[in-house]
Amino acid sequence: MDNSEKNQAARKKLTREEMNAIVAKAKRSQEDKIKGYREKSLSIHPWICARCGMEFTLKNLHLLTVHHRDHDHDNNPADGSNWENLCVYCHDNEHRRYTDHLQGEMPDSGAAKSESVTHRPFAALADLLKKK
Ligand SMILES: [Zn+2]
Ligand SMILES: [Zn+2]
Repeated sequence: MDNSEKNQAARKKLTREEMNAIVAKAKRSQEDKIKGYREKSLSIHPWICARCGMEFTLKNLHLLTVHHRDHDHDNNPADGSNWENLCVYCHDNEHRRYTDHLQGEMPDSGAAKSESVTHRPFAALADLLKKK
């Protein structure tokens, strides 16, 4: 009985310390991962949206995001082949299209075409920059 109580107390303390360490480590590595692939992609690929051609400078670079071509955020090859620099609007659009594709709600490819014509990332970007 004494022994099991002792063990329980020891386990509790260890677990809490371990948990803290694990949480802190996971948090750090997650942040490193996110920061890591964005910086890498921005250093490999030009600061231009791969969809609409919007050019970026240090001033508005926060609007340039890194998209995973295969939508797998854990697939981060060092050569940048799975990354694509997209402005936040084209990125949003890309994910919406992917979701539509997955749900099979867009059997007609003509729908995607007309959507890209009415899609105006420049206007939206200008609005956002004005607000800041
Ligand atoms: Zn764009
Ligand atoms: Zn993406």
